[in-house]
Amino acid sequence: MKIETRLAQIGNGADSTTGAISAPIHQSTTFAHPSLGESTGFDYTRTLNPTRKLLEDAIADLEGGARGLAFASGMAAVHTVLNLFQPGDHLIVSNDLYGGTYRVLEQILRPIGITASYVHTGNLEDIQAVATDSTKALFIETPTNPTMQITDLAACAALAQARGWLTIVDNTFMTPFLQRPIDLGADIVVHSATKYLGGHNDVLAGLVVAATPELGERLYFLQNSIGAVLGPHDAWLLMRGMKTLALRMERHMQNAYAIAGWLDARDDIPRVYYPGLDHHEGRAVCARQASGFGGMVSFDVLDSRMVPYILEHLELITFAESLGGVESLMTYPARQTHFDIPEEVRNAIGVTDRLLRLSVGIEHIGDLIDDLAAALDYASDRVLAHARS
Ligand SMILES: *Cc1c(COP(=O)(O)O)cnc(C)c1O
Repeated sequence: MKIETRLAQIGNGADSTTGAISAPIHQSTTFAHPSLGESTGFDYTRTLNPTRKLLEDAIADLEGGARGLAFASGMAAVHTVLNLFQPGDHLIVSNDLYGGTYRVLEQILRPIGITASYVHTGNLEDIQAVATDSTKALFIETPTNPTMQITDLAACAALAQARGWLTIVDNTFMTPFLQRPIDLGADIVVHSATKYLGGHNDVLAGLVVAATPELGERLYFLQNSIGAVLGPHDAWLLMRGMKTLALRMERHMQNAYAIAGWLDARDDIPRVYYPGLDHHEGRAVCARQASGFGGMVSFDVLDSRMVPYILEHLELITFAESLGGVESLMTYPARQTHFDIPEEVRNAIGVTDRLLRLSVGIEHIGDLIDDLAAALDYASDRVLAHARS
């Protein structure tokens, strides 16, 4: 069946005793054993919970992997995956990376001897240049957050396979509706399900999918041992959100495409980052490996002094961290999501104090553009007119 159908049907048919369409929330932390040495398959909720299992099976199916695992947050998912590595191991990581992942790598793993090199993973030569005998994995975001660099997943996975490395992809921005890294050769997919999969800015969750049963078993051991699992209520809430993913993504993309083009035509916006724009260097690769360009648009303003005026003057679009919900959100990466990345490192990858990131929601496009136009005009009048006079 097609992905739209599989999404809408998540959890349906799970409870044959009642026929419930919406999957039951099994809040129980423990489960009775029929007799010594027998189990219903469920013993203790950290180990396995019926509601969480429905979600885990659903994401494994959607990503085309062997096993899905659900975590209390995207970072819990990322950190659990990174527990596959040992002191002395080296990772090669996309240089424009979610700030929280960078923080785990630099402040938690580096002190215990697990190191990372950051390159534009879209350039295979750059990957080869930092590879060592200790390299164990590639960790990729594509498109990256927030400058929308594109990495060729199939090419990277082939290189990794030839060298015996794992390929790990953070697929938060695209979701399995638009991009399925395992089909392209990746070994592990991670998600902040807090974003598009949940879709309503109301549940914090992380998901992991392993391509093979063996890798799934290793990750399941880590999930159960570390214990950063998703609670049953949140698993249910996430499944409810995921049912409408296809519809939401289509509208997110339509709106994002329109806004990217509109921003691109403005004099006070020197650069727009959206993989669907003709001038985007990664457009062809993104079009080949994904079925859409996503709902995230970043842009530079002409002068960093415009930023506070824009953020204060937006009325519909909310100035807040996060992304992927039905409500449009504007983020200032240099001060929010990427604050933990040193300024020189940030500037080198384009996350400057002139960059804004917009998570385009599903509101009416006319209302979104009116709101942006009012805020940008106001900021330009205040800052640029001043500079000219
Ligand atoms: C938000 C985010 C994370 C972290 O997820 P949380 O659910 O906030 O813990 C990881 N990767 C990307 C790309 C994200 O956007």
